[in-house]
Amino acid sequence: MNIVLMGLPGAGKGTQADKIVEKYDIPHISTGDMFRAAIKGGTELGLEAKSFMDKGALVPDEVTIGIVRERLSAADCAEGFLLDGFPRTVPQAEALESLLADLGKRIEHVVNIQVEQDELVKRLTGRRICKVCGTAYHLVFNPPQVEGVCDKDGGELYQRADDNPETVTNRLEVNIQQTQPLLDFYESKGVLKNINGQQDIQKVFADIDALLKGDRG
Ligand SMILES: [Zn+2]
Repeated sequence: MNIVLMGLPGAGKGTQADKIVEKYDIPHISTGDMFRAAIKGGTELGLEAKSFMDKGALVPDEVTIGIVRERLSAADCAEGFLLDGFPRTVPQAEALESLLADLGKRIEHVVNIQVEQDELVKRLTGRRICKVCGTAYHLVFNPPQVEGVCDKDGGELYQRADDNPETVTNRLEVNIQQTQPLLDFYESKGVLKNINGQQDIQKVFADIDALLKGDRG
């Protein structure tokens, strides 16, 4: 089962990724992990990627795609994989398609967890952190017992600068613009599956599971 997982920040992608790889026993392949493993393994491509990252530059597509190819060729991907954070662009998706074809594989499902922008802003701006111990709370999902105060040590809770509504909204809009062509690409291939992410975590997973199982026959 070869899956690409998509969703905007705050959509709950990480939580669902954990559940999918556990249930289907396939590796969770995120871009960050792939780069770290390639660099740690000292492969030629890993070192090349590192030379760009050390300069604070974007790793070029040829290098990234080479690393993806190596990773997806590994034995643990024989029964499937869950790609997370790659591809990010249509050219990357096309390159992925062609490298998978070389390996006799294809992407079967692009699972897109959908959550409305207003809800994402609510989720992403609700985080509050204790100044003393760093414990994270959420105004909606995990509120402290007393507003503005840490349950553990009475420390003052603050909001990270990155979590303010304006920054969050901008980040989301940039993300939506970048993602839309990719969603259109997969839609045109008939593999895009939209999942309602605005439900209980267990229900979101039940929907994903039903979708993946249904196709297994
Ligand atoms: Zn605290």
